[in-house]
Amino acid sequence: MSKNSVKIKILGSAQDAGIPQANCYCENCQRAYENPKIRRLASSLAIVINEEKWHLVDATPDMREQLIIMKREFPHMGLMESILLTHAHAGHYPGLLFLGKEGMSTKGLPVFAGKEMKNFLKKNAPWTQLVELRNIQVKPMINNQSFQIDEQVEILPFEVPHRNEFSETFGFIIKGPTRKLLYIPDIDSWNQWKFDICEMAKNVDICIVDATFYSVEEISSMGREITQIPHPLLTETMDRLQEIVNDKKTIVYFTHFNHTNPVVNSNSREIKIVKNRGFDIAVEGMEFIL
Ligand SMILES: [Zn+2]
Ligand SMILES: [Zn+2]
Ligand SMILES: [Zn+2]
Repeated sequence: MSKNSVKIKILGSAQDAGIPQANCYCENCQRAYENPKIRRLASSLAIVINEEKWHLVDATPDMREQLIIMKREFPHMGLMESILLTHAHAGHYPGLLFLGKEGMSTKGLPVFAGKEMKNFLKKNAPWTQLVELRNIQVKPMINNQSFQIDEQVEILPFEVPHRNEFSETFGFIIKGPTRKLLYIPDIDSWNQWKFDICEMAKNVDICIVDATFYSVEEISSMGREITQIPHPLLTETMDRLQEIVNDKKTIVYFTHFNHTNPVVNSNSREIKIVKNRGFDIAVEGMEFIL
């Protein structure tokens, strides 16, 4: 793969709690305990520019491990240039703590965050300390206002409906020199969003979207209700995007898998269904040229 390129690397593809999930011994988690190669880290992306520098999307609780993945693959690259945060849920920002006094003790690392996320970090411990000691420098991210993180990469952040207890939630369009990628790791439902996912998908080359759960049965088997943890079901998203995938202009990958999702098992019947329908499953290490 050419060094002179912008590429996206998948650093995590699990729902916030990862796979295996702490104290869970379901079949998927047990398989992942036994085989570290199939463990999944909390959803995250690296935006790698000319293999010289990179930016991180979401600071997950698995960030320590994700930095090791980056170092192994790109030994000559330093620390990320910036971090872009989608929202304040457990899988998306706690990695910021590694930047503080007890860890890397970074100096003014730019962290792009929405207005509410910024207030949340500035007002609540332990995050306040990162701001006060200037380990991080919180940069504003405004709904529907694109900005450059590099001369070759433009980011368009847009808000999506989600359980916003502490912050707003963003998805991103990441635009490189030749292609555009849509990234939405968390959304409550496609219907509640003011944009049409089909239109959005048509206008990009690659989509990587929320597929936390495969089916309703899966959620009830956990003893939880979808109203408490709303996400579009993978099966419904396939129905919605099938025509676009059939046209072969846009490729659609799923991510943010809950430990109960059958598609995390590469031998499952469900993963065959997904692939037969022309969709694909994000896996740690995958790369996309933009
Ligand atoms: Zn999440
Ligand atoms: Zn489990
Ligand atoms: Zn969330």
